[in-house]
Amino acid sequence: MIYLDNAATTRMRDEVLDKMLPYMTESYGNPSSGYGLARETKKAIDDARETIRGIIGAEKTSEILFTSSGTESDNTAIKGIMSREGRDREAVTSSYEHHAVLNSFASLEDKGYTVRYLRPNGIGIIEPDLLEQAVTETTSLVSIMYVNNETGSINNIKELSARAHQKGAVFHTDAVQAVGHLNINVKDLGVDMLSASAHKFYGPKGIGFLYVRDGVRYDSLMDGGSQERGKRAGTENVAAIVGMAEALRLAADELEREKIRLKDLKRDLAGRLLREFPCAVINGSVEENMPGILNVSFTGKRNDMMVARLDMEGICVSAGAACTAGTTDHSHVLTAIGLTEERTASAVRFSFGRYNTKKDIDVLMDVLRKVL
Ligand SMILES: *Cc1c(COP(=O)(O)O)cnc(C)c1O
Repeated sequence: MIYLDNAATTRMRDEVLDKMLPYMTESYGNPSSGYGLARETKKAIDDARETIRGIIGAEKTSEILFTSSGTESDNTAIKGIMSREGRDREAVTSSYEHHAVLNSFASLEDKGYTVRYLRPNGIGIIEPDLLEQAVTETTSLVSIMYVNNETGSINNIKELSARAHQKGAVFHTDAVQAVGHLNINVKDLGVDMLSASAHKFYGPKGIGFLYVRDGVRYDSLMDGGSQERGKRAGTENVAAIVGMAEALRLAADELEREKIRLKDLKRDLAGRLLREFPCAVINGSVEENMPGILNVSFTGKRNDMMVARLDMEGICVSAGAACTAGTTDHSHVLTAIGLTEERTASAVRFSFGRYNTKKDIDVLMDVLRKVL
């Protein structure tokens, strides 16, 4: 099998599992209890928080909130900020966000809040000037994703957050596709909140974090015990927290090398597709976008058929985001960047990761020749 869907999820690293295992077996104390066995797990969580704080350049460990997923981080940021605000206050986001963000805002709209949706330009970027025009004195929150999960386009978060702050709005970014893949410093970016998820950087599924700058006030989604300083009740998923921190530490170590390697793989595939298949059109910029993500339309072909045919040949790719697979709607992302119906219906996303090699591209090309 050749796995080319690393933007949907990644295979957990063996080193990460090794770190997690003790917390699923002998080290089982409840971190909130008051004896040695509990202090072990409490310390494991503290250490994990410190590791993550350091890597993303946060000032304090208390700025890192552990959640169950990127989805929960997004929900917490968006609903947590807006639920403290009156219904006369507004939010600004974009039309090509992940559904964790879009549907959080849809739920706020149901409650009476006004949400403005910015459209990305033709290469999948949110233009800062457009954002500046949309943000007013009545805007409480701006949420723009760092890296788009379908096109791999990268937003200028530093510039966008600065424009939002000019009007006094809180700035959140869904950085689920960026953390562990790009060098991230929350201070440098100037963001108030940032979402991440471990399974996108070779960590376990079902664990994420939300960075919340000290002083930013938000409501919690969960009521219960006083875990996470009262901001996220429920006994901590110790093993997953430990695994996420280890995965991020390892990812940060090899990040620069991987960026170059993945970009090479992508360039190679893009070049070969364009040379061999006249129907292939690249969606977005090969050079500017995320190193590991390549979105290609095979005009005249149906992407759901291609995904199924490639699967029969042992190759995993996706047509749009995994979360919307199985529905017949065309990608809201590709539609938002203005692609024609023909291009969106034939778009396939290839996303590379640390286990992919040049050999995989050779095999993929052989299979594509057969399938196309
Ligand atoms: C995967 C993803 C999410 C959701 O994260 P989960 O941990 O799977 O809930 C949110 N936003 C983006 C951009 C993603 O790629």
